[in-house]
Amino acid sequence: MNYLADEQRYTKMAYHQTGKSGLKLPPISFGLWHNFGGVDTFESSRALTRHAFDLGITHFDLANNYGPPAGSAEETFGQIMKKDLHPYRDELIIATKAGYRMWDGPYGERGSRKSMLASLDQSLKRLGMDYVDIYYSHRFDAETPLEETMGALDQAVRQGKALYVGVSNYNAEQTERAASILKSLGTPFVIHQVHYSMFERRLEQGLQDVLAQEGIGSIAYSPLARGLLTDRYLENIPADSRAAGGSVFLRPEDITEEKIAKSRRLNVMAQERGQSLAQMALAWVLRKGHVTSALIGASKVQQLDDNVAALNQLHFTEEELALIDQILAG
Ligand code: NDP
Repeated sequence: MNYLADEQRYTKMAYHQTGKSGLKLPPISFGLWHNFGGVDTFESSRALTRHAFDLGITHFDLANNYGPPAGSAEETFGQIMKKDLHPYRDELIIATKAGYRMWDGPYGERGSRKSMLASLDQSLKRLGMDYVDIYYSHRFDAETPLEETMGALDQAVRQGKALYVGVSNYNAEQTERAASILKSLGTPFVIHQVHYSMFERRLEQGLQDVLAQEGIGSIAYSPLARGLLTDRYLENIPADSRAAGGSVFLRPEDITEEKIAKSRRLNVMAQERGQSLAQMALAWVLRKGHVTSALIGASKVQQLDDNVAALNQLHFTEEELALIDQILAG
């Protein structure tokens, strides 16, 4: 049967302005780094996507290399678009990126014009789309002049293959330079995708100020610390978890006693607030409105429900914020 999106989908969250642009993003966005590869079950990826959209999540984040194998997450999402979501294309913000290793040889990674534009064409083909909404430089490339990488982003917009551009994993100084180049080109640089959670706070050391000064929005990736800031690992490493699944980005040895001790204390605090730990971690990322959207991953539809319900309790008292700092300082 044809998929029909939930008619109530726009009643569940207020959408945030991305920096000073006209682009609005949901406070919770969904990333397809895990659970959308060729190795995963298509129907499970499809159910996650449909459920996310039914909850009002309009933003789906990809990259050329998401899988495994690399490229397969875009192919999976392309199939889901074709089967279910194509009538809703104008309700969706779809992002992709290039910068990490994707194909063999000197042009299969980094930020050259050659690499960035070829990668975008490949992504569009896998996605089965004419354009993406946001195209990112996935990482700063010290071997390529920044003018060249930014020029490629500009060209993508001028070709109609991207509506907006962004950067990811750039530091404050690199971001300031990128903003200046893109401003001179008239390119809509609206967003920075940054690693940010209670366990990863480098954003607060200068980058946040640059983004505010330049009117650029931010989307916080891995706000749940890849699962560490949830109830997933409080007792053990469950067999169906990312850490047990052979991911090189969350290995059993990353689940340290020190981190779990902090997560356990944070979990007690979350319970006192009437939230799950995941909900409190998301509310914390979104506190004070600095971050436009929290970019989560999920392996189960129930996790999406749990995470979106974080929006019911976003407020922290000054005492609560101080206690969180104290727990994190450990
Ligand atoms: P999270 O920190 O949100 O971790 C997601 C994982 O946490 C899930 O896979 C799940 O683990 C667990 N989880 C999620 N919700 C709950 C819940 N309510 N209760 C219990 N466990 C839960 O983010 P990711 O690390 O997945 O990253 C999110 C997105 O950010 C990526 O998909 C990608 O789009 C982007 N990203 C960008 C990067 C960049 O360089 N720009 C780098 C990394 C990510 P489990 O699978 O074990 O169930």
